Amino acid sequence: AKSAGGNRYELADPEADARAITRHGLTTALPAALDRGEFFIEYQPLVRLDDGEVHGAEALVRWLHPQHGVLGPDRFIGLAEHTGLIVPLGRWVLEESVRQARDWQRQHGEDFPLRVNVNLSPCQLTHPGLVSDTVEILERTGVEPEALCLEVTESALIGADDDLLKPLRRLAEMGVDIALDDFGTGYSNLANLRRLPVSILKLDRSFTQGMQQYPADPVDLKIVEGIVTLAHSLDLTVTVEGVETGAQAEQLRVLGCDTAQGWYYARPGPPDRLRELALVDATG
Ligand code: C2E
Ligand code: CA
Ligand code: CA
Ligand code: CA
Repeated sequence: AKSAGGNRYELADPEADARAITRHGLTTALPAALDRGEFFIEYQPLVRLDDGEVHGAEALVRWLHPQHGVLGPDRFIGLAEHTGLIVPLGRWVLEESVRQARDWQRQHGEDFPLRVNVNLSPCQLTHPGLVSDTVEILERTGVEPEALCLEVTESALIGADDDLLKPLRRLAEMGVDIALDDFGTGYSNLANLRRLPVSILKLDRSFTQGMQQYPADPVDLKIVEGIVTLAHSLDLTVTVEGVETGAQAEQLRVLGCDTAQGWYYARPGPPDRLRELALVDATG
């Protein structure tokens, strides 16, 4: 390993070297992987807590690497952000997910609209093509903006100035929902929420984890209750992620959370599985 800057020297770490080589290998393989269609999307249902119905799904990208098998986003999104490949990759995810939303709508008809949530990386936010690409994809597929939700992490918007918020405002005005992802992990000022063009708060999994026991830690309950009250007073919908047990789901429902996502309902999976889940709900 090389010097890590300054006059600090790292000890030789063969595993770290191997990881660096893999990182380097993955980084250089990314553009061809996009060309060859090695990425695919799994969908995880979003469930309404009051009636248990599936009303949409979050699109989560994976890479079927010819040597390493299926790689999760944590292995390559950061690399794609460093090289700028996240812009075309993110555009591909958006287009693919919106097409999928259209297919769900076609299969279910107008009165059963499944929505799709797509993650945006900070680099996509500052890319000038964001609004025009989104508009073009929605027009080409014939999907209503209301069927799309773009998820932006809280940390990407901390201290955001007007230039950064402008494209999100444009999209929100068109009817696209903007969700503040991983909420509660950053240090944003709650009062700042009013300034952001968001309509959904996605409470980070760390909050849900505090509710694994029944009854949950009373302090955790108070914090979530406070966030939900504040969110609702600002007309925001609250989604919770990482729900793994029925006890968590029930406590979060009682606290007034609106939507939930997690292994308790379903792991991320292929688009057809979501259709089956939704059909079970619609008929049962
Ligand atoms: P995220 O947006 O917070 O997505 C939720 C992550 O939690 C997903 O991990 C999901 O599989 C996982 N998860 C869902 N339910 C549960 C549960 O009940 N328990 C536990 N322990 N985990 C649960 P995944 O698929 O590995 O994605 C990791 C992150 O990668 C995402 O976190 C998101 O930030 C990012 N990501 C995924 N797809 C994209 C994409 O298309 N573009 C960008 N920019 N980022 C993406
Ligand atoms: Ca997300
Ligand atoms: Ca999240
Ligand atoms: Ca998270």
